[in-house]
Amino acid sequence: MDVHCSTCGEPWDVYYLWHDAVFDTEISYEEAKAWCSLPHAQRLTDRYREKFRAAGWEFGQGVVNVVRCPSCPKDAKPNLELVQTKAALEELLGDDEDGLAATFENHRL
Ligand SMILES: [Zn+2]
Repeated sequence: MDVHCSTCGEPWDVYYLWHDAVFDTEISYEEAKAWCSLPHAQRLTDRYREKFRAAGWEFGQGVVNVVRCPSCPKDAKPNLELVQTKAALEELLGDDEDGLAATFENHRL
C-alpha cells in the first residue's frame, strides 16, 4: 500500500514507513529494531518525532500520515487541504493504521 506525502506528493510504501524509515534516522540499530515492535500509538513520542524530523520526516498522529518527507524540496509547504483531510480521516479511524493506510491509498492521499 502506498500513501503520499502531503507536501510533495511522493508515494511511500506503508511497509517502509512502519519497518524501514526508522533505520534512516540517527537512532541506533538496536533502538530502531525495538521501535519497530512498539505499539503504533507509542511510535511518535516527542523524542522520536525529533529524530524523524532531523531525517526530513514529519507525520500526523501516526507514520502513515506523511506530512513532510525527505524528498520534499526545502521550501515546499504542505498542502493544507490535504493535511486537513488526512487529519480528519486519522481522527475517524483512530488506531486502525491498516484501515487508515487502505483509505489513504483508495483516495490516493
Ligand atoms: Zn515530501
